Order: sequence, then C-alpha cells, then structure tokens
Amino acid sequence: MPNAPASTATATPIAVEGFENLYLMAASQFVRAADTMKLPADMRTILAQPKNEIVVNFPVKMDDGTMHLLKGYRIQHNNILGCYKGGIRYHPQVNQDEVKALASWMTWKCSLAGLPFGGGKGGIQIDPSKYSQAELERITRRFTHSLGSNIGPDFDVPAPDVGTNSQTMVWMMDTYINTFGVAHKNVSRHVVTGKSLAAGGSEGRDEATGRGVVYTIVAWAAEKKFDLNGATFTVQGFGNVGSFAAKILQSEYGAKLIAVQDHTGALADPKGIDAEALAKHVTEKKGVAGYAAPVIDREAFWKVKADIIIPAALEAQITSKNAAYIDCKVIAEGANGPTTPAADKIFIDKGIDMIPDILCNSGGVIVSFFEWTQNRRGESWYLDEVRAKLKRRITDAYDRVAAAKVKHKTDRRNAAMITAIERVVTSYKERGIFP
Ligand code: NAD
Repeated sequence: MPNAPASTATATPIAVEGFENLYLMAASQFVRAADTMKLPADMRTILAQPKNEIVVNFPVKMDDGTMHLLKGYRIQHNNILGCYKGGIRYHPQVNQDEVKALASWMTWKCSLAGLPFGGGKGGIQIDPSKYSQAELERITRRFTHSLGSNIGPDFDVPAPDVGTNSQTMVWMMDTYINTFGVAHKNVSRHVVTGKSLAAGGSEGRDEATGRGVVYTIVAWAAEKKFDLNGATFTVQGFGNVGSFAAKILQSEYGAKLIAVQDHTGALADPKGIDAEALAKHVTEKKGVAGYAAPVIDREAFWKVKADIIIPAALEAQITSKNAAYIDCKVIAEGANGPTTPAADKIFIDKGIDMIPDILCNSGGVIVSFFEWTQNRRGESWYLDEVRAKLKRRITDAYDRVAAAKVKHKTDRRNAAMITAIERVVTSYKERGIFP
C-alpha cells in the first residue's frame, strides 16, 4: 500500500510525439482514414468524441485502516454496432485522454472483426503492485459499485487489460450481480468477459490475444510467402499478450525468440530464449530481470535485428527516435497504439510492413465475444472450437484489410481503419440520426 493517499486531482494527460495527448494521436489516425475515404463532415463530427465520459471518485479502506479516495474512468466511445466493449486498466499512467484513445480503438477493433459490439475502456490511475490482494479486491468492488448501471451485460461489458486479470473480472461480476441481481432475479455473468473458467469464462480466453497476434503473423507470412520456421522475433512486454504470442510462435511455428524487454530490463540471445521457461520466470519474479540470458541495455533492445518485432507493452513505445534504427520485416502490434504516426511514416518509407493494433490484437475481444455468447446461450465450447473460430474470424479480418489496402492504394493501418469505419458509417446511414 502506498504511504500517501492517492490524489483525486485530474490525472495529467501525457504528451506523445507530435500530439498533446494519446487521444489526439488516435484521432489523427481516424482523420487520415476519413480523408482517404472522403468521409462526410457530419460522420466525422459524430465520431470525433466519445458518447459518454464517466469519471467516478470513490473511497476505499486500506489494510492499515486509512482511507484513500481514488478516481476511476469509463469512456464509452460508440455503440452503434452493439454494447460498449473494452478493458479495464490499472496503471500509474492512466488518464482520461488515454482511456478515450483506447475506447476509440475498441470501436474500430470490434467493427473490423465484425462483432456486435461498440467501443469502451476504463481504468484507475494506480500501481496495482503497491496494493495487497485484499485492497485490490476492495478497490475493484467499490469501483464497480460506483459505475453502477453505467455497465451492464447488454449495455457495457468490461474485460481485463494492463494490470488487471481474470480475478479482477470475477470481483467485478460478483459485485454487479450482488448489486442488481437480487432485485431483478438475474445472474448476468456476461456483464464482464475474461473471467475464470469456474466463473463462466471461456476456454482459450487467457491465450486469445497472443494467439490472435500469431494468427495475423501467420496470415502475413502466407501473403508474403515467408517461412516462419526458424524466423527470428523480439517481444516488448512479457505479460499476457507478449508471453502467449512468444510461446505459440515458438512451439507451434518453430520461430525463435532472440530478444525481450519489459519494465524490469532487457535480454538478448541470438541462440534463442526459451519463451516457456521465461514465462514461468516472469510469473514468479514479476519481470524478465534475473532470467539466465545475456542482459542488454533497454534501448539496445530496439536495435536487435529480427524478422518480426512484437510490441506488447504500452502505447507510444515506437517513436521516430527508435524507428530510425529498427530493422525487421514486419511489426505485429500486440499492444494498443505502440507506434506513433511519425514512426509509422518512417516504416512506410523504409518498406517495413505493419500489422496494426486494431487487427493484430483483436483476438482478445473476439474470444470475449465467444465468452459473452456462451454465457447468453448457457453453452460451454471446447478449446479446439474456440481456436478454430478465432483463426477463421481474425484471418477473415486480415484478408478484408489486405483487399482494402489494394483498393485504396494505402498502407495496412489506414486500410484497417477504413474497413472499420465503413461498417460503422453504413450503420449510421441505415439508422439515421434520432429523432
Ligand atoms: P500485462 O499487464 O499482462 O503486461 C504488460 C507488460 O508490459 C508487462 O510485461 C510489463 O512489464 C510491460 N511493461 C509495462 N511498462 C513497460 C515499460 N515502460 N517498458 C517496457 N515494458 C513495460 O498487459 P497485457 O494484457 O499483456 O497488455 C499489453 C498490451 O496489450 C496493452 O497495450 C493492452 O492494451 C494490449 N491488449 C491487451 C489485451 C488483453 O486481452 N490482455 C487485448 C488487446 C490488447
């Protein structure tokens, strides 16, 4: 537990290269796609801001008896395609503009994957490692209670993100059911996804985002006629997304992990780092530091030449500075927003391919959709079924983006955004503006 009570002052937006904050960076990607597809002004205006921005301040009792007042966010960007959907993040950098950016990317991600969901995101500006499990449980339950009916199984469905996990989701679900279930005789487990199996989670949800990253790399390799067996790759961030992507690329496709970086340090070994053993180490030691492999400087990580680079940590990690010396065939964005537009331009000029975040890491929300569907139908699918359905859906999205890339003579990120915006705009055109 931190010594001083956390502040409820509005968290400072963090500038990202060329932009005042992350939301303006995300908006610039939208505007670029809108220009390419000549989107009318009214659609740009509607989609420029989230529908709802919910900010809650809530008190939580700490283990030592003191009280902290915490600030939580839930941003609901758009729900024209279905209920709001998106993760809950616990991280010291969480701020309203970051959550707005992440919520808007969820709108595009769900649209691109053909899901009946809109985009949302939430978070609390805390470092979860500084709190006990009991404190995290009280924080999560009180945050969920403060959100009240702003979330719901057919309205807004949270999931895990950085700093949260299946346990966080089970606490959220239990709090929601105890708050609303008694009055309404309703046990809506699908108010959140990413739950444990016992609480109604889906087989394959824990690995889903990393596995989806791999399936998009497999689709890219097929398009480029590139052999993944023996290919080299590096990973930034060895949490849920990075570790599963690395383990699957290594064990199922014969690729070799040669460098890794996280918040505790960086390692590189041209002979290969065993992703399975490293993942066990990270679970025990809470970071890659201390694993038996040669240590390198954190910045030197980006200088390691590899066939595939997987950023799977936080946003704005690849800027014009490190893009200048990054040398690879393709960047597969496991994280949301890891590359700034300035870095994007450098990669286009250098001919380095990009599998953009809204496509690359959509495996998580796709399997969240499967979990939500199973809960609604009272079904429980087998792991091989989940994997096959995920592969089909994400590969289909990859192919639609590849076709849009050719049609619009543009890069893959812009093509993905255009494909996603088209579905949303079609729905607005058909439904019109109420009243
Ligand atoms: P996680 O909390 O499991 O792991 C985060 C990783 O990032 C850790 O390895 C941590 O060490 C590393 N990290 C944090 N700060 C860092 C820094 N300054 N430098 C280097 N590494 C740092 O989170 P996750 O669920 O794996 O999410 C990672 C990214 O993937 C995020 O951008 C998240 O939004 C995105 N994402 C996650 C999911 C999901 O299902 N979990 C789905 C889609 C996208």
